[in-house]
Amino acid sequence: MSTRSESDSWDLATSVGATATMVAAQRALSSAAGLIDDRFAAPLVRAVGIDVYSRLVNNEIPVTEEHEFDPDRMARGMAVRTRFYDHYFLDATRSGIRQVVILASGLDARAYRLPWPDGTVVYEVDLPDVIAFKTSTLSKLGAESTAERRTVAVDLRDDWPAALKAAGFDPQAPSAWSAEGLLVYLPPEAQDALFDNITALSVAGSQLACEFVPDTTMFADERWRAHHERMSELGFDVVDFNDLVYHFERSHIIEYLTQRAWQVSHRTVAEMHAANGFVYADDDVAQAFADITYLNAVRS
Ligand code: SAM
Repeated sequence: MSTRSESDSWDLATSVGATATMVAAQRALSSAAGLIDDRFAAPLVRAVGIDVYSRLVNNEIPVTEEHEFDPDRMARGMAVRTRFYDHYFLDATRSGIRQVVILASGLDARAYRLPWPDGTVVYEVDLPDVIAFKTSTLSKLGAESTAERRTVAVDLRDDWPAALKAAGFDPQAPSAWSAEGLLVYLPPEAQDALFDNITALSVAGSQLACEFVPDTTMFADERWRAHHERMSELGFDVVDFNDLVYHFERSHIIEYLTQRAWQVSHRTVAEMHAANGFVYADDDVAQAFADITYLNAVRS
């Protein structure tokens, strides 16, 4: 059962905010394995200070069969995801787009690590505590953005288009959007509103990338619960997706976008592993998640 409520809030150590620290820790593992290059992930995670994720990036969690903790698998899974969005943004800017919107930016450091073309403006949208923490931590680390970075501290369940436009976003210019690791944390009607707003703000040629999780009930599935219990013994109970996602039935994103004049391309996470030369595991847990789909779309 979800423990979410209307207008609930968080920082990077609590509730949905902790998921941003979790995925950044996974990017740190992928980086350490040489699969991606996000040198900011590990220091950001250590700065947040959630014990299990700090130990994860410090290689202090023992690998035992009994707990099913497999750092290599985590690293590969996050490499697939990070490469997908990195390539998407680089291709979008190569096609001439200079306006990028990273929705639910969390500890995403793309504004500091991708080779953006001159003149690119990157808008990062997330809750105020999340934005403030990443900005001040990266500043203390001496990081310099590789594009013009503009932050938009707002709740994506509220009137975020007004805040984005107030930060300088131009709805008449083409844009490239990402909603990475976000949608399951929005109520179904907020997800629809998100795509309606993106559509209204996107001229022809604009692009969008996100994941589609066809069925959130898998977080309550006994295969996932058993895995979660075993991982909890190592401290991974900090994040329980079953509590954090909205389980209600929601729109089928591919159909929803197609009906709104987006041309959508999509591949499942299992197909994406194969495309990256990685084996996708065939155990129960992996199979429960095999239908998660990465999609990118162009507004026609
Ligand atoms: N996109 C980042 C990444 O992949 O590293 C972070 C993903 S993290 C799993 C989920 C993010 O969604 C968190 O940073 C959280 O603050 C943000 N988020 C979820 N619901 C939100 C809302 N209603 N308004 C603003 N941000 C939200």
